[in-house]
Amino acid sequence: MIQAKGGQAPSQARHPLSVVMSQIPDAAFETEEQHVGEVKQQSTVVASHVASHVAPQMARAKGSQHLSLARHSLSVALSATSNAIEERAVQLIKQPVPKIFHLGMFEIGRPLGKGKFGRVYLARERETGFVCALKVLHKDEIQQGKIEKQVAREIEIQSNLRHPNILRLYGHFHDRKRIFLILEYAGKGELYKHLQKADRFPGWKAAQYIAQMASALRYLHHKHVIHRDIKPEDILVGLHGELKMSDFGWSVHAPSGRRLTKCGTLDYLPPEMVDPKRCEKPYDEKVDLWSLGVLMYEFLVGQAPFEDTPVMTQRRIAKGDMTIPSFVSSEAKDLIRKVSSS
Ligand code: ATP
Ligand code: MG
Repeated sequence: MIQAKGGQAPSQARHPLSVVMSQIPDAAFETEEQHVGEVKQQSTVVASHVASHVAPQMARAKGSQHLSLARHSLSVALSATSNAIEERAVQLIKQPVPKIFHLGMFEIGRPLGKGKFGRVYLARERETGFVCALKVLHKDEIQQGKIEKQVAREIEIQSNLRHPNILRLYGHFHDRKRIFLILEYAGKGELYKHLQKADRFPGWKAAQYIAQMASALRYLHHKHVIHRDIKPEDILVGLHGELKMSDFGWSVHAPSGRRLTKCGTLDYLPPEMVDPKRCEKPYDEKVDLWSLGVLMYEFLVGQAPFEDTPVMTQRRIAKGDMTIPSFVSSEAKDLIRKVSSS
């Protein structure tokens, strides 16, 4: 296990993660079961705390208070035992200066995955043993990729969301070169891999998953957030098999509900976003409902309905040109068609 020393301020961090990672043994954090047990216990405790202490605080929070309250919520989340946690949560919320995070506070575990810009590691907060996922983004890569706004938006939006099917962002910190996102650990990895392994999901499972995604979307839309990039690659699976919507890089606040920017992945985009004739028309939360229909199709069939060459995908989306195989139940077919035309 890595023993990165703690205590230094972020700007003076003496533990570049590359050095830390190179020392990691194969079994980074004891056994998988131990993790599972820990996270299970903590997530229950955290959930009740968020509900009873943090959520009401968050609801009252405005403007810059959001960030400090997000930190408070992590402080709560990181509390150790179930009996002491109530008292500690109250103490933490009352603290005049919120907890500031830095790399030395975390024990770094095995790599969980690599994205276009980020690397994600299993991590554990030293003081409390709270298990999380630490996403590391390099500032120069963010600048080169011109995604500064996207990252800022992802942090701002995701840290204010509280829903069992939305991956929590507990907080963030940075040093001279990197930005670190403290994320909820999704113990069962990517949904995409589960789908590949299964070929397609049975109706009962697809129904459960779609209900979870619909619930997450209802919550998002209620908060006037449009996700705009819902696809199996960006959905993670929690320890209890529950879905966790993640990757809010393309999401936007939609106070007016009127957006013109093109974004997301072609396969999941609705006609109003791919059809040049309709492009000048604004779109709203409904774009996520279209993606929900595409997702439902993909869960039941094993591939997205408009998978083709990019030009053909665009044409087929605009025309709504899809064939639903006969093994899909008539009820599911009906729902896919209704969601797509809503
Ligand atoms: P992109 O940068 O193209 O959006 P991505 O969404 O896959 O790609 P990341 O969010 O950086 O990129 O995640 C990389 C991988 O790490 C994921 O595909 C997933 O396998 C794993 N991962 C990310 N976050 C977590 C998490 N909270 N819990 C468990 N695994 C995670
Ligand atoms: Mg992603």
